[in-house]
Amino acid sequence: MLEDRLKSVIRDIPDFPQPGIVFKDITPILKDQDLCKAIVDELAFRLKDLAIDAIAGVESRGFLFGMMLANKLNIPFIPIRKQGKLPFKTIAESYKLEYGQATIEVHEDAFTPGSRILIHDDLLATGGTVVAASKLIEKLEGIIVGYAFIISLDFLQSLGRLTRFSDNIIALAR
Ligand code: 5GP
Repeated sequence: MLEDRLKSVIRDIPDFPQPGIVFKDITPILKDQDLCKAIVDELAFRLKDLAIDAIAGVESRGFLFGMMLANKLNIPFIPIRKQGKLPFKTIAESYKLEYGQATIEVHEDAFTPGSRILIHDDLLATGGTVVAASKLIEKLEGIIVGYAFIISLDFLQSLGRLTRFSDNIIALAR
């Protein structure tokens, strides 16, 4: 099963990036090209009826499978980046982290109003990042048709924050 394969390669890194945090390292997935293909194929299959116009991926790990998935579905990819990285005119959204805050941005011409956008990131924890990404998409009058993650840490807990944007929430491993 794909979920078992994912869980067997994603590794826990204690005290990264700071003491007390156990970081889920997804990079071993990238060494296994068959697993990468299986991830993209599974997501593409599960998303096939959503009539998605574009995939928005969150920097930086959301770029890895976000771009592959967009290419598989033959649709554009929209990079959502940390503040100050995108060169053209942007709109921004700030959100709270455990300590402090973060700001993400998207190009204001990233897609046309009314586009049906799927938001992708590697991992869902509190949901704060993709909620901020969702607000960016809605500011540009995009329609959020769903979310796709490789892994979710606490699926039920974070679900509630996303369902006000869309009920289509996929996590390949939980
Ligand atoms: P959230 O905003 O849902 O609390 O956190 C998810 C965001 O933080 C994602 O962009 C994800 O890449 C990053 N993140 C937080 N914790 C981890 C982790 O343990 N492993 C990985 N790969 N990413 C994490």
